[in-house]
Order: sequence, then C-alpha cells, then structure tokens
Amino acid sequence: MKGGYTGKILRVNLTTKAIGTIDTEKYEEFGGGHGIGSAVFFDLVGDQLPFEAFDPRNLIIMMASPFSGTFMPGSGRCEVQGLGPMLYPIEWFGHSNFGGRFTAQLKFAGWDGIVVEGASDEPVWINIVNDKVTIESAKGIWGMDTWDTQEDISRRVIPSLKYGEWAELAENCHTTQMPAVVCCGPAGENKSRLGCLLHGPGSQAALCGFGGVFGSKKLKAISAIGSKSVPIADPKAFMDARLWFRQFQWNVDNPREAERFGVGGPYSLISGRPSGGNVLNRDIPLTPARAAACASCPRGCRMRLATGDSNESVCAGTMVINVNGSVKFTRQGNDLMQKFGLGHWQLMPLLGYVQALYKEGVLGKGRPIDTNLPLDQSGTFAYAEALLRQIALREGIGNDLAEGCARFAEKIGRYKQDVNSGLLGLVYYGTANHYDPAIEAEWGFGSLLGERDLMLHMMSNYPIHWMAWSGDPYLTAEECAKLYTDAMEPYQGDPFMVDHSEGPTGIYSDSKVKQVAWIKHYEKFWIGAGGFCGWRWPMCITNNTADRRGPTPRAEEKFWNAVCGKNLKFADYMEIGHKIYTLDRSIWVLQGRHRDMEKYPDFIYDRPTMGSDMTMYIDGKWKYDTGKGRKLDRAKVEDFKTRFYKFEGYNPENGYPTRATLEKMNLKKVADALQSKGRLG
Ligand code: SF4
Repeated sequence: MKGGYTGKILRVNLTTKAIGTIDTEKYEEFGGGHGIGSAVFFDLVGDQLPFEAFDPRNLIIMMASPFSGTFMPGSGRCEVQGLGPMLYPIEWFGHSNFGGRFTAQLKFAGWDGIVVEGASDEPVWINIVNDKVTIESAKGIWGMDTWDTQEDISRRVIPSLKYGEWAELAENCHTTQMPAVVCCGPAGENKSRLGCLLHGPGSQAALCGFGGVFGSKKLKAISAIGSKSVPIADPKAFMDARLWFRQFQWNVDNPREAERFGVGGPYSLISGRPSGGNVLNRDIPLTPARAAACASCPRGCRMRLATGDSNESVCAGTMVINVNGSVKFTRQGNDLMQKFGLGHWQLMPLLGYVQALYKEGVLGKGRPIDTNLPLDQSGTFAYAEALLRQIALREGIGNDLAEGCARFAEKIGRYKQDVNSGLLGLVYYGTANHYDPAIEAEWGFGSLLGERDLMLHMMSNYPIHWMAWSGDPYLTAEECAKLYTDAMEPYQGDPFMVDHSEGPTGIYSDSKVKQVAWIKHYEKFWIGAGGFCGWRWPMCITNNTADRRGPTPRAEEKFWNAVCGKNLKFADYMEIGHKIYTLDRSIWVLQGRHRDMEKYPDFIYDRPTMGSDMTMYIDGKWKYDTGKGRKLDRAKVEDFKTRFYKFEGYNPENGYPTRATLEKMNLKKVADALQSKGRLG
C-alpha cells in the first residue's frame, strides 16, 4: 500500500471488551470506505444472516477513505454501515454517511476505519488518541443531548482544552485540534429507529437508524484525535491535480463566480441558484456571515447565515422542522432535532403522516389513536418541541412513532393502504423519496435497486433539473445531454442516458439501464469507497469553464492515482464499484431480497406526475420539458429491471448474482454462501 491508507482498521468488541486490528491491505481490492466495510461485514457475520439490527451480532462499521485527511476536495465523508433498523420490511444491510472532520482525525490517529461488535452491559464511549484506544464509561453522559455529549467528551479527552490553543494530547504530544466526536442522542439511546448519528452541530448520518444501533450496543459516542499525517504516494501529482482542480471551483477560488455572487455564497455550482438549505427556505436572507465546510471541501455549504441564529445546522435536509413565520424558531426547531439525535429524512414523512391522521380524525386527544400532542398548534415551536421530545424519549405516542413511519403504520393496521395511497410518503424500503420516478427515473431506479433513498444529488437529474428550472440554462438540452454523458465513462457517447422522455430512448430504454448501472457503480466506488460528498460529486458539467465540462471523470482518477500510487483508469475504478454493488446485493439476497420486492408502491404508478424540468428527446428533437401528467408503466418498469439484471450479471428471474459474475469479481466465497442458501442466481 503506497499511500492513502494507514494500514489498520480498529476492531472493538463491546461484549468482551477486546480491542484489536484488521489489516487494511487484506481489503485493498475493495478500494476503501464502503467497499472495505461491505467486505468486512460479509467476512465477520455474512454466514450468520439473517438476524436483526438490534442483535448484538450486528456491526457498526465506520470507514474513512484513502482521501480522508488529504486536501482532495469534497471527500471527507464518513461511511457508516450495518443492518439498518429504519429499513422495511427487512432491516437491510444499509449505509449512511456524515461530513465534518471525523474521518480526518481518525486517519490522523492512524486508523482507516472502526468496526464495533457486540454490546456492552453499561453505557460506554470509545476514546481514540493516536494508537491508544480505550473503552470508557459513559456515566454522566448517557442521557445528554448530542451537543453537550460532544463538548463533555472533548473535555474528558483534553481537560485543558481551549479553543484554538495548544493543549497536551499525550506525553510529548500537543495539538491545537479538538477531538472529533460522533454520538447518538436520547433518540438513539432509546433504540429509536429514527435515531441518527451526529457529529458537530449538524453533520448527520440520517438514514438507516444507526443511532438506534449505537443505543442497542449501549455505545454513546466515539471520539478520535490524532497527530499523525496521511501518506500520499505521489505528492507532486497530488498538488498538480489540486491546482488543476481550481478552475472548477467557485466563490473564493473562481473570479467569475465571485464576481457574480460574492465571496462565500451558498450557490449551486450548476444553476447559480441558491443551494443547500436555502432551497427549502427561499424567504430566509441568503447572505452567509461565513462559509463553513467539512474537512477539505471548498463548497462550504454548512454556512452560518447572516440572520445570526444558525450554527451550521443548515444543510437542506435539516430544514424539516418548519415553524410558521419564524426563521428563528425554525432554526431552533431544527437544532432541537439535532440535539435529540433524530434523523431528518425519516422525520419528514413521519411529521406529515401524523398531521394527515389528525386531519382524518383518527389521531388526537380522545380519538382512536389517543395522544396528548398539541396537534391543534402544529406549526408552532411548542408543537415541534413536544413531538420531538416524545419521539426521542419514547413518551406517550412517541413510543410507537419511534418505531419509524412504516412500523408505526403497521402497528395501527394501515401500512398497506397508506403506503400504496401515498399518505405515508414512503417509497424505498421505509424511506421517503426525493424525486418522482416517473420523470427522474435514474434516482427512482437507483434507489429501488438499492436499499434506501439514494441521496446522490449531483448525478444527472439534479444539476440538469436546476439548470433547466433556472429559466436561463447555459446549455441547450442537446448540448447538455451530450456534455453530461461524455463524462459517463465507460458508457460515454450515448446522450440518451439522460433522456427523461417516455419515448423509445427514454426512461425505460437500454440507455437508461446503462445510466442506472453507472450511478450504482459511481455511488459504490467514488461516493462510498472514496468518501465523496453527494452534494458535490459527480461533476459532469459546470458553468465555471469555457467548454462547460466538469472535472468528472478526469479528477477522480487523477486524485486516486496520486494518493494511492496506482495507475488505473476511471473505468477500472467503476468496475470495482460494480463489484461492491454486487457484494452488497449478495448480502441483501442472504437477508431475503428477491426481484419481486423491488417494486414501487401503487401511488407511484397510479398518480399522474407533477412533472419536472429535464432533458427529453421528443419527436426527434431535444428539449427541456416537464412530462407533466405522465404515469409510470408497471410492465415497462418490470421489463427495465429484467434488462438491468442481465446487464449487471444477475439472474433476471430473481435478481440474484450469478456464480460466473461473482467469480469474475474474485468473489467465489460469496457465490458459495449464496449457493449454500439456495440463492445463487
Ligand atoms: S458540499 Fe457541504 S456537506 Fe458536502 S462535503 Fe462540502 S461542506 Fe460538507
């Protein structure tokens, strides 16, 4: 291993209190992050599947990437993996990730990742200071909110801690850094399936319910701080790549953008329109007082706003608590969600569902589903506070709501009817959807053929939509389709991959099969294994260069080769992404996945779509169109799936990976495991 890795993964067993290591090199073929996490999960517990997410056998795997701790732009995410208690009807092997500076500190401490096994009898936290790792009592911290927890633990790690000043970390070892702490809140402690992991004020691993898994293991937090550095195989090539990349940046680095919007503006790279949290709150003054970012990210979307009452808790997803007419209380409501450690992306459909049941007369004081929640005061801070508290502490109706949207609906006997009518707002395995699969089909198929809502915002549908929606697109639809798909190696040269029409080259076509495969492979390698941020990557087009070409796919291969000392092409790394996706899919198959489960609820097919501005090829011409009023066709979706499974090397009858595919990927042991369960494709 020439660079990028520290060479060891921390292994902590909370039942036996054993602390050990796993050699990273053994898993180098999986790249890093998500790839290594999946391989470790399969090796350690794959033969015991299926079991439940709150079973002590479940693992919490938190992986850095070779880029973590370097200046690779937008690559500091921490990948979290394990069985996800939020997911439905099976708690799939899932993943979530969070930003901030946790992976940088983990790498500086000398670790490529952490694997937590077993469960403790008493509340504990894990303290990582360079190579020294201890399991500490969480007495006095258990029960605290996420912000106080991080502060308290930081002071336990460095008692003399003063912001920005030198402090003694260990004998002959000093730092100006604060420990990076990730923790669950009261929601996680109470094994809520909405429980997130929180780092910093608002960096959430929101999906899958990993806060609840922390709680089930009586694990309150993990703290990491280190004083080492990350080896880079070819520092000159890395710096050259970093300087080359400046042309794609905006704001501070890019005079054109700075001139247009002012330094530090939270604006979309693609459309020039406000991005991040402001998308949901366009009435909020947009001027940031200062940009704040995850380690190594020049986008700086975690800004403090000029209103003065935000505190980096302002990513788009975190704006799910909306207190009518008050910016201040909206901020504070969202802060409360962070402090309780509640995952925003599950909270959103749950809030809507509670209100819908209240309006129906089913839920409320003295009603069939009795609750003392002040439902007549929805939209007030008092209502938000009561609801969040009850869910996090499992008080009153909160005890049932803490089971998440799908299981709450199941408990009240309405799951089937409400998921199919759309009242529940769930589309992918107990998680909500971002976009309508009838138009933005790549997101829909990408999620359906995964284990949760995709969360890969910078793939085609998002940048194309925002550019088209701006009303002043800087590319025609034809130019956009061509440029965008030019970047999609190894399938480049097929503009119909981004045709969102329902015609023969559109959302059910073989071109779309290729695009969805590209997305899954990109998601698994560059986002998952590379720790890239889905708000930032891929970057296929940009308004910052004369030719409008973004850095993808050149940047990815340049940076990876420089850091890791490889000489591979972008397409080679995408094939590793295919391998990781196939491994994940095999784990789902061991848990019970079959192609018949990969279906949208009825409302997705039956409702005419509201439409969305996208590139479409209609009557022989490219145009931006919305497709409003169209409906998704069930038979065509099934036919699409059949062609997708074949394209990826899976059996189209059941969606199981075949032995030939697995062996070609050096995954013979996975083929053997599937065969032993009678589930080889
Ligand atoms: S785009 Fe925002 S969330 Fe993503 S890495 Fe950069 S600062 Fe963090």
